[in-house]
Amino acid sequence: MAEKRLVIFTDIGDTIIDEGTEVRETGDVVVRADCIPGARETTLRLYEAGYPIVMVADGLVKSFHNLMELNGLDHVFSGWVISEAVGEDKPSPKMFAAAMEVLGLTEKDKRRIIMIGNNVVRDMRGASRFGIRSVLLDWSSRRPFDPEIPEDVPTYRIHTPEELFDLAEKLNAELEAEDA
Ligand SMILES: [Mg+2]
Repeated sequence: MAEKRLVIFTDIGDTIIDEGTEVRETGDVVVRADCIPGARETTLRLYEAGYPIVMVADGLVKSFHNLMELNGLDHVFSGWVISEAVGEDKPSPKMFAAAMEVLGLTEKDKRRIIMIGNNVVRDMRGASRFGIRSVLLDWSSRRPFDPEIPEDVPTYRIHTPEELFDLAEKLNAELEAEDA
């Protein structure tokens, strides 16, 4: 399968993992949690279709390793960019720059990247300021989606993980047409 033009950066909490199911141990490490309905299947489908996927997540390295291994998703990521290791949380540009670096991407590739997330301040604002497009998944009602500032407005908005596949295919086709 040829690699796709579109590059996917993804949040994890309430984007792939249902935060309401998280079980923590002392030290705040998440030891287990379930995926949002449809999120595991969609992530696997995107991976199998050839999309480069990089995790861009705030939290502890050990938590994400636990969660991805338990849910059979540890093989899908080209890179794991985790705030504990980077030293700053989203919306810090350091997080997004680290994700680009993993794939060897440069400034001119920013048009190929979308950031998927549920948090308008961390994910949408972070993406806007970094100069990449954003996709808000509004499945979870744990956080408000109202923008505090214009940079919090997502480029695209979806309600279920499954919708991401068709959106990715559409955006990838647009990039391929532009670059042909
Ligand atoms: Mg999240």
